[in-house]
Amino acid sequence: MARYSYSKLETYATCPLQYKFRYIDRVQMDLSPTIEAFLGSRVHEVLEWLYQQVTNAEVPSLPGVLRRYRALWDAEWTDDVRVVRSGTTPEGLRQVGERCLELYYNRHAPFDEEIVLGLEVPFRVPLEDGIVLNGYLDRLAKRHGDVYEVHDYKTSSRLPTPGEAARDEQAGWYALAVRERFPHAQELRLVWHYLRFDERLVSTRTPEQLEELKRDIGRRIQAIEAACSFPPRESALCPWCDYFKICPAKGHRQAVAAIPDNAYLGEPGVVLVNRLAALKAELKEVTEERGRQIAQVEEALYEYASRHGYTVVVGSDMEAVVEEQESVLLPKAGEPERKELEALVREEGLWNELSTLDLTKLRRALDSGTLSEVLRAELARLSSRVTQPKIRLRKRRI
Ligand code: SF4
Repeated sequence: MARYSYSKLETYATCPLQYKFRYIDRVQMDLSPTIEAFLGSRVHEVLEWLYQQVTNAEVPSLPGVLRRYRALWDAEWTDDVRVVRSGTTPEGLRQVGERCLELYYNRHAPFDEEIVLGLEVPFRVPLEDGIVLNGYLDRLAKRHGDVYEVHDYKTSSRLPTPGEAARDEQAGWYALAVRERFPHAQELRLVWHYLRFDERLVSTRTPEQLEELKRDIGRRIQAIEAACSFPPRESALCPWCDYFKICPAKGHRQAVAAIPDNAYLGEPGVVLVNRLAALKAELKEVTEERGRQIAQVEEALYEYASRHGYTVVVGSDMEAVVEEQESVLLPKAGEPERKELEALVREEGLWNELSTLDLTKLRRALDSGTLSEVLRAELARLSSRVTQPKIRLRKRRI
């Protein structure tokens, strides 16, 4: 049985290699959490404790809540907690946490707006083909008239728009979980508390949206299960990745960073990349210059042949055929009339005759695992796999 959590699927979407490290190879890194994760955990723990008290009919005071937060922060804190973002300080984030709790407390005390059904509630949603989605709901609550609510706390520094909240996939997972457990629910609300901003983003999902989400999750899981390679996908999130230190996309960068400024230019990898970049730049320059020269000679040749009325001009070993050719300019891919042109060709039933198979797109579809098993088997019969070196130059990232 394949079990998938939202964060497992999200990890694959963020970076397939990170997914492989975490869920396939199960690489254990001896790392402390980032400060953002540390803050999130402490705030979640305090809110969980707060609602435990509330369900026991004991509403703690705001100073009591803050005392609890400070005690948890101090008990868990170690100097190994990672501070990645420059300008962030542990003390600054500790205060952010206090502020989040203060805002939440003042807005929701005495916390009797709804009946708390559970805290950190585990869920499992079976899909087709033996796939099970699982995870936890921060707080599950119920209001009068079979209205169910999932509450999720966010300490992030970015407030999404209502449109983003309505499309949020994690909220969709939670909606599936509540529908699974309470099929009779009259209404289902997904309440995201953006604590830093004292904002609640409330959204819901229709049964049709949930069905589509299930299909989409199923397709993506199939793609993961069929994946043959797990390439690194670098992004702005890399500095927060647990596997940064062992990532092949970051290894040389780290090795070079450890070399003193005056020595790193002699490092063999640096030398090779600099040489390749210089050669490519030279080739580009020469190609452009040759292109300009060829255009000039062609223009002179055309002018010469026209002046003398020749259609063939001979050289020593080669000769030039000079002729005029009329060609039709059709809209290229991306130009506004291109879609219209394609629709016209289709309507006339000429598509099969005029179009060609795009092997690059087919290769991508094959690698993404979205093709049917039958088609994949047939393609495997018609193709072979080779591993070839491929080197791309790009602007150096920091
Ligand atoms: S450091 Fe970046 S590219 Fe490397 S595994 Fe982590 S997320 Fe992927």
